[in-house]
Amino acid sequence: MISGQTRLAVLSMHTSPTAALGQSANGGMNVYIRQVCTAFSRCGISTDVFTRRLNEDDPVSERLAPLSRVVYLPAGPFETDKYGLLDRVPAFTRSVLEDVRERELEYDLIYSHYWLSGAVASRLSPALNLPWVHTAHTLGLVKNRRLAPGAEPEPNARIAVEQTVARKADLLIASTAVEAEDLEHLYGVDPARITVVAPGIDLSVFGPMDKTEAQRKIGYPAQRLLLFVGRLERLKGAEVVLRALAQLTEPGHRDLRLLVVGEDSRDGVDGEKNRLRTLARELGIATRVDFLGPVAHHELPYFYAAAEACVMPSYSESFGLVGLEAQACGCPVVAANVAGLASVVREGSTGFLVDGHDPAAYADRIKRLLDDEELAAKLGQQGVAVAQRYPWARTTDRIWAAMGSVLEPAPAVRVARPF
Ligand code: UDP
Repeated sequence: MISGQTRLAVLSMHTSPTAALGQSANGGMNVYIRQVCTAFSRCGISTDVFTRRLNEDDPVSERLAPLSRVVYLPAGPFETDKYGLLDRVPAFTRSVLEDVRERELEYDLIYSHYWLSGAVASRLSPALNLPWVHTAHTLGLVKNRRLAPGAEPEPNARIAVEQTVARKADLLIASTAVEAEDLEHLYGVDPARITVVAPGIDLSVFGPMDKTEAQRKIGYPAQRLLLFVGRLERLKGAEVVLRALAQLTEPGHRDLRLLVVGEDSRDGVDGEKNRLRTLARELGIATRVDFLGPVAHHELPYFYAAAEACVMPSYSESFGLVGLEAQACGCPVVAANVAGLASVVREGSTGFLVDGHDPAAYADRIKRLLDDEELAAKLGQQGVAVAQRYPWARTTDRIWAAMGSVLEPAPAVRVARPF
């Protein structure tokens, strides 16, 4: 990858790549931006990631990698509800413009993430006269098509922003071929403006290890474990895992313990975690479930390696990094057969893909793994092999190659101001 002095303005308005994962809105997208910017930095491509200030004590900026920094800019009051953030888009856009002008920064391209930053980019791109590449991460219309029971649909305001992004962005990077089709058919994007690039995995962090040792390390020695990892919200389907566990009542399965890793996506006493705790009590499995809250990203490999299976009954998932991470650590995945997860999990080879959300179907697949150690070990090994195909460096190479089409003619040589 040869870049000259290319410098990208990365927009991540609603959440920072440095945020603690597995809570609030912080999950796969934060990992994605952090990893892509780090990999770009290794290739000599500079990135400034613009995000909003969330606390009084947020620094002005923070280094993410040698050629990447996160810039925290004001966007009005410290709003936590992402839908309320749409009103902050003009203020945040002004802050970015002021920062760019004050520091006399020059960029070659705007790279926005998620619809809120898409709204910012749709203003910045003409104002700075820069090409614009966008990654949606999730799409409102797709989420609304397969809503979890009790989940609130994505509002029209989001869909309208996504439609604007679909019309105006020079290039859209989709995580899967299905997302590309959705962009084409639901949002009317010309396929020539879409490139499919699968996200990646940090193979220096996520890899196989001895199960006994991993169980000991996380404080569950000689314990058969089932794992759920994700922000707690209806979309992720943790309820299905609880209901499946409640069906695993045979003497050989009763020792199974479920670890729920992750925290509420939204604050408040009526959050998903409380609902799940109540449900566990009602199902009579409260003593078999531990709600562990968020776990540091670099600690997660031990959890994956310690578990018999990682269960992901999501109602919609644009990719599902958790599935890939679990596989990389040799943990079979029992996942809902939705587009993103179907691109990660190979049915019968690295785990199981389940149609729908009937807990009995999930319990059946988990049972198969518990009852057949040889099968579980084989699926685990094959998962490790599949994960090797997704290094972030490959993802970033492909993103960069795609960006070349909107950076033509060749990127101007910019003298990036030293930071
Ligand atoms: N994650 C984490 N700690 C947690 C929960 C989640 O580090 O307690 C990370 C997880 O390793 C994964 C990301 O958050 O990299 C979640 O990504 P995924 O694509 O599965 O879901 P999303 O949050 O994008 O819906």
